[in-house]
Amino acid sequence: MPALFSVEVLTPEKVLYSSDRVVSLTAPAWEGRLGVMAKHRPLVCALRTGVLSLRLDDGETRYIAIAGGFLEVSHNKAVILCDAAEMDREIDVDRARRALERANERLRTFDRSIDRQRARAAKDRALARLKAGGAL
Ligand code: ATP
Repeated sequence: MPALFSVEVLTPEKVLYSSDRVVSLTAPAWEGRLGVMAKHRPLVCALRTGVLSLRLDDGETRYIAIAGGFLEVSHNKAVILCDAAEMDREIDVDRARRALERANERLRTFDRSIDRQRARAAKDRALARLKAGGAL
């Protein structure tokens, strides 16, 4: 029986996900993917836009698209705070595909009115949603 820990994923609107039966978590940290297991040392770390993976004790893995945020680990509990996050099952894949196309279109043009950083961030969110939604 593997040691377990708790995870909460919070957005400004709601508790998106909460479980106390998590075996391991991997998160998109700035330095690369960060792994957390039970009894991890206390930690605070900034996250990129990407996919958070949670392996549960029933053998299932849940994927959550996150639009950046922060991870805090303490007392055998991980809290992920993000502006926007979606569970694998609730991701609208067609919407993410459209968002990706829009962002790519903006990045293809040399129009000075295009905010490239904003378009790149939108593209990263769309890619994270497609990955978490199983479409990439
Ligand atoms: P879009 O251009 O499709 O609106 P976006 O990246 O601009 O995408 P956000 O501003 O990051 O969208 O998110 C706005 C809200 O919509 C958030 O609550 C987010 O969780 C939700 N959301 C965005 N895209 C999707 C999607 N493909 N499936 C489900 N929820 C989504």
